[in-house]
Amino acid sequence: MTVTAIVGASWGDEGKGKMTDALAADAAYVVRFQGGSNAGHTIINEYGKFALHMLPSGVFYPHVTNVIGPGAALDVDMLLKEYDNLAAAGVPAPRLRISDRAQIVLPVHRLLDELEEERLGADGFGSTKRGIAPFYADKYAKLGIQTADLLDGERLLHRLERSITAKNVLFNHLYHCAPIAAANLLPQWLELGQKLRPFLCDTGALLREARMRGDAILLEGQLGALRDPDHGIYPYSTSSSTLAGFAAVGAGIPPYAIERIIAVVKAYSSCVGAGPFPVELNGKEGDELRRRGGDSGEYGALTGRPRRVGWFDAPAIRYGCAIQGATEIALTNLDVLGYLERIPVCTGYELDGKLLDYFPATSRLDRVKPVIETLPGWCCDISSAASFEELPPAAQGYVNYIEKAAGVRIGSISVGPRREQLFATATDQPVRSASRRIP
Ligand code: GDP
Repeated sequence: MTVTAIVGASWGDEGKGKMTDALAADAAYVVRFQGGSNAGHTIINEYGKFALHMLPSGVFYPHVTNVIGPGAALDVDMLLKEYDNLAAAGVPAPRLRISDRAQIVLPVHRLLDELEEERLGADGFGSTKRGIAPFYADKYAKLGIQTADLLDGERLLHRLERSITAKNVLFNHLYHCAPIAAANLLPQWLELGQKLRPFLCDTGALLREARMRGDAILLEGQLGALRDPDHGIYPYSTSSSTLAGFAAVGAGIPPYAIERIIAVVKAYSSCVGAGPFPVELNGKEGDELRRRGGDSGEYGALTGRPRRVGWFDAPAIRYGCAIQGATEIALTNLDVLGYLERIPVCTGYELDGKLLDYFPATSRLDRVKPVIETLPGWCCDISSAASFEELPPAAQGYVNYIEKAAGVRIGSISVGPRREQLFATATDQPVRSASRRIP
């Protein structure tokens, strides 16, 4: 019986998609439990390179059932587009199940997101404009539309009218644009409902039964711990909980079912969008790290925006792992740092002349300065290493530093973007020799 959450320890883009794709080889279910199409998971495997925004990362395995749970924000256009793209790339049709309680992102949510970001101007949140904040606002204001509503025309019209009436006041008086008629949206959404119908079911029941059978379930997080609305860098957070604790809720399984929580940690830091990012590097150093990072530079999988980059941030990762309840770390992008003779790391923050070893609330985080130390670099290509002992001593030292700084065992190490560039460390010890390739 294994239920594993794969979640981000920092600002997102840690490499969760790659980890989920690799671990899905041994899984029966891969579940999206929060977020929508506002971030992308990059996956490189035998079919090519993909950036999945809405589909779970298990779609490349015919034996995996991919689930979109009720906690997610379902962007139907993106879902259908990605589904078709897979077919075009020769990927066998994935098994897909969508919760009949999952709610849909409406075009009106995207429009509101755009208009509001425009209105805020320089004070904006760096929204990806996929409608996520207005979607979750509607959900908690009880104005959302569940997928099951799409199968009942009368009910759907009533729900759309409820949702759109108040927004039209905003369109008219705040944003000064044309109002929307709920009835005009009806035919299109009824048609989309018919397209979704074959995939809809009570996914909570499906997963609870799977768990009772002992099937392996992966819960795939989107973004990272520091974007969580309760524990992260509010208000530069996202609108749904990015934490493993929420995975049980967003998927519909018991909280105690999650036995393994893998916090994905990058060997350096990156951040898309606005908000405090204490280790941010500007200038040449940052440009070089950005150019060398990830599979082809640190650029957003959804927007193509250059990601902000910086060195490894110990207080941020320690905090991120703690709020995720990480039982282990998957360390990614270690290969990227092979160009450095000395590798800077942020060991703490300085605030008003005092040293902080923790990650404070946003109002104080805004003012901290990173305390930087350096560790020896390994100055070579490690992208074909297949075990911990194949890493040069300086790379082993860097891994051991991160394990100690985070306070969580490193269970696997990724040394390149491809599926096979990943190996596990021993399961019961800190990182050491008994390694094996994953999967
Ligand atoms: P996710 O949202 O957490 O899945 O992360 P993204 O896919 O947005 O960003 C992670 C980036 O790192 C992508 O470009 C991946 O292809 C890349 N990547 C993942 N693991 C590694 C690794 O170990 N080394 C390198 N060089 N790139 C990696």
